[in-house]
Amino acid sequence: MSTSAGARVADLHLHTFYSDGTYSPQELVEQALRQNLHAVALTDHDTVEGCALAGQACQAAGIEFIAGTELTAEQDGHEIHVLGYLIDLQNSRFLKEIGKFQTVRQDRIREMVHRLNQMNVPLQAEEVFALANCRAPGRPHVARALVQAGFVGSLDEAFERFLKKNRPAWVPKFKMSASEAIGLIHQSGGVAVMAHPGLNRSDEIIPAMVQAGLDGIECFHTKHSAALSDHYLQIAGRFNLLITGGSDCHGLSKGRPLIGSVRLPYEHVEKLHARAAQRKAASESHFSA
Ligand code: AMP
Ligand code: FE
Ligand code: FE
Ligand code: ZN
Repeated sequence: MSTSAGARVADLHLHTFYSDGTYSPQELVEQALRQNLHAVALTDHDTVEGCALAGQACQAAGIEFIAGTELTAEQDGHEIHVLGYLIDLQNSRFLKEIGKFQTVRQDRIREMVHRLNQMNVPLQAEEVFALANCRAPGRPHVARALVQAGFVGSLDEAFERFLKKNRPAWVPKFKMSASEAIGLIHQSGGVAVMAHPGLNRSDEIIPAMVQAGLDGIECFHTKHSAALSDHYLQIAGRFNLLITGGSDCHGLSKGRPLIGSVRLPYEHVEKLHARAAQRKAASESHFSA
């Protein structure tokens, strides 16, 4: 997606080492500065752990920071990712709920390690937790630990032999429903956006998500072709959804760092703010009525 030089742009889909990225929040913001981004959102999987530090680094760098997360959910048998933007980081119910999903992730690591052990791969869960060093560990951390201990030669090999869906150490993850994810984001002041719809091509679930209160759809994403972006822009128009976009940068863990490769015009960030304000006003009038 190209924009004229000097136009304000945002990248609204970024990961740090608080989930499965490799950058620290500070390194991420250094890269954002280098990419001339006006605004960034941190969207680590099932956690907001890195948001405080990323927010501070953005403030020092003069970049607008949007606190976010990427929740894993399920709708009609499809795994989908729901981005939450402008989350209140102090919201205790939100923290408690995502804490449950962090526990699910930690228990799942133990189960994956147990299955590896049964295949005579003597990895220890503690090695994975030490390497992950965050509340929302996932398969990429198991893969890295397997490489580090010399059990496989590469991350790809770890996924191919053990971790991919239906491979011997793959463990399904308990997921919330899409409407629970959307509700959770709303009750913590946030705006809910369907992430990279083109990755799972599950267009048929969009109407149900709109019914559940979905606010927006990530039309621009590294893995969306121009044609796919156009397709989702049309869907956004049809359902009156906000438009977002982001690179889904995981730092150095998936080849080259992608931050800044998707450049969303800033007007869409303004619309996110407007939607959050609208929701806030509606909930306040509800409580005072
Ligand atoms: P999890 O949330 O623990 O299921 O892990 C999902 C993460 O694993 C995502 O960041 C994916 O990009 C990554 N992943 C999934 N499948 C593969 C694969 N075949 N090779 C490399 N990374 C993968
Ligand atoms: Fe990821
Ligand atoms: Fe995702
Ligand atoms: Zn992501």
